[in-house]
Amino acid sequence: MNALEVRGLVAGYGGITVLRDIELTVPQGALVALVGANGAGKSTLLKCVSGIIHPTRGEIRMGDRRIERSSASAIVRLGVAHVPERRQIFGDLSVADNLRLGAYSSRVGAPELSRRISEMTDLFPALRDRLADDASALSGGQQQILAIARGLMSRPRILMLDEPSLGLAPRVVREIFDVLTHLRSEGMSILLVEQNARDSLAIADHAYVLETGRIVMAGTGSSLLGSDDVVARYLGVGASQDDAERRDRVRRIAERLRDELVRDVTAKR
Ligand code: ATP
Repeated sequence: MNALEVRGLVAGYGGITVLRDIELTVPQGALVALVGANGAGKSTLLKCVSGIIHPTRGEIRMGDRRIERSSASAIVRLGVAHVPERRQIFGDLSVADNLRLGAYSSRVGAPELSRRISEMTDLFPALRDRLADDASALSGGQQQILAIARGLMSRPRILMLDEPSLGLAPRVVREIFDVLTHLRSEGMSILLVEQNARDSLAIADHAYVLETGRIVMAGTGSSLLGSDDVVARYLGVGASQDDAERRDRVRRIAERLRDELVRDVTAKR
């Protein structure tokens, strides 16, 4: 049984198509990586699965259930947890409150909430002494752990992560990826979206390469790591953190300009 299946998916924003004919499968209990450069459409795919945007064509299945027209809250209840890019932690809320928010759609009572929070502190001891602290007081790596723990609070069947390594030092990235391999060993199905191809292919059972909205390669993580094409395109030059941050800033500005353009065009229609 597959945890997630995407078939013939086409999606975009305001009449602009971003994803074309996407075919992707996350088998039950597998860690699947989706890698690709900035703007390839990786986040857009996660947004389709979690119901934030609806595709224009295609199917998304969890088991034998179609979800591509379901609401985001229904999809959380069906067992999809989406850990968004840049973590989106509520910095002025406590760590415990951030965790509670993760279980919001599950509509559970206080005793069950406490049980789930203590499960999270067992799994992530770094959070145990920080429950009462503002989340903004955590380090970047701890905030990423909190974002993952918040996702797990809904007891998902599949965990989707959008660039958990973003902005973190290599040592912290390794810790986060260790967390993911541990969760997989406990049976969790994981869809990991990353620009960091090298580290994510190294831990992935299966992987897909997305380029300007299309899947251009697929295989086991190790076969893609060994592919000359992947090495040349994605692993050749190890970009420094500064480069990554500069590219990120430029991308944000470009995206904002593009959003404004899309809004203008849509308004004039
Ligand atoms: P990144 O890792 O940089 O987030 P990505 O592979 O996740 O890249 P997406 O964020 O899915 O890429 O973006 C794919 C394309 O869709 C980009 O060209 C982006 O500018 C565009 N896009 C993303 N969000 C919107 C939006 N809300 N409105 C219009 N266009 C958008």
